Amino acid sequence: MEALRATAEGAIAIQAKQVKAFGTEAAEASLQQLSIQRRNPSAHDVEIEILYCGVCHSDLHTARNEWHSTVYPCVPGHEIVGKVRSVGDQVSKFKVGDTAAVGCMVDSCRECEYCREGLEQYCEQGNIGTYNSPDQHLGTQTFGGYSESIVVNENYVLRVPEHLDLAATAPLLCAGITTYSPLRHWNVGPGKKVGIVGIGGLGHMAVKIAKAMGAEVIVFTTSASKVEDAKRLGADDVVLSKDETQMQRYHGKLHFVLDAVSANHDINAYLALLKVDGSLALVGAPEHPLPVAAFSLIPYRRSFAGSMIGGIAETQEMLDFCGKHNLVSDVEMINIDQINEAYERLLKGDVKYRFVIDMASLKNR
Ligand code: NAP
Ligand code: ZN
Ligand code: ZN
Repeated sequence: MEALRATAEGAIAIQAKQVKAFGTEAAEASLQQLSIQRRNPSAHDVEIEILYCGVCHSDLHTARNEWHSTVYPCVPGHEIVGKVRSVGDQVSKFKVGDTAAVGCMVDSCRECEYCREGLEQYCEQGNIGTYNSPDQHLGTQTFGGYSESIVVNENYVLRVPEHLDLAATAPLLCAGITTYSPLRHWNVGPGKKVGIVGIGGLGHMAVKIAKAMGAEVIVFTTSASKVEDAKRLGADDVVLSKDETQMQRYHGKLHFVLDAVSANHDINAYLALLKVDGSLALVGAPEHPLPVAAFSLIPYRRSFAGSMIGGIAETQEMLDFCGKHNLVSDVEMINIDQINEAYERLLKGDVKYRFVIDMASLKNR
């Protein structure tokens, strides 16, 4: 099949094929089966048959247009692992049959100062997200991993440590890197007391990674049902955040706090936990602004920061780190036709701790 893409020089033909996907046509609509185009691999492209795809809360925010930038139809999914089905004739990093992974980005300008530094996620031109970004090849928006296959430039494809369980590795491609990157950036390690807020897909990986980095890890959760579990995940202590007495124990005691909460919450309660010069990094991306009181920051010279996923080299570093420390996600496997129910459960914090879609369930539909 040929798709026509408009360029400054006029329309050019791109060879593409139709593949099965799952996505949504509107913010209020359920996800359902769709047909999307995938380009035929060009010289530097890798075509991957998708075996597993994790379900990130960002998929839900995007499918429902909570960040007000969704282009429909929308096919979410950016925690992708699979097998290489074909490669372009200039590809040197992958061969047919290799296990390969794709995370939150499929391209960037490759020339700006951030791309050159390995910070492609902050590309001056805007990184090309795995879904809901402009697709330069087909002229549509990009479509994510709730699909049979994906075609990605080899420089944006990752290697998976061989001994890790593949389905449980998928969530590392977003939940893993989004927590690893700020934990590294703020020098989390031995001698540091670190708070992790919100124990969902991101938060539970943050606990495992921060512990493997050698830090003392304190979990803050709204869910009584996660208290015992958080210790199993590696937490040294767990605080039920609705209990003010328990919260008081850590006032002014933490070097760093990573906040992975997906909904509105009182950020000032967590800023109060920081020591002098401590930082709170927000990775959770709630739909509405979070008010910050000046006197949450001023008295202890505290910093309030954000962090977005991680660069390609850092994502590979994270996968290798997880390989070395045998870290994977705690997953609940689902079939593609359970995705709408999974979104409802995600909204209730009812997942331990990441849904992963067995993509054979789409292939066999
Ligand atoms: P998730 O699995 O749904 O986990 C979110 C957790 O937040 C829940 O498990 C719950 O933890 C807590 N929570 C939920 N509602 C709450 C509320 N009303 N009040 C207090 N706590 C609440 O989500 P996720 O996939 O880990 O993603 C978390 C957030 O990070 C999302 O907003 C997502 O879009 C964002 N994200 C950002 C990046 C980035 O680059 N910065 C990348 C990926 C995802 P407890 O039960 O422990 O309280
Ligand atoms: Zn994500
Ligand atoms: Zn760039």
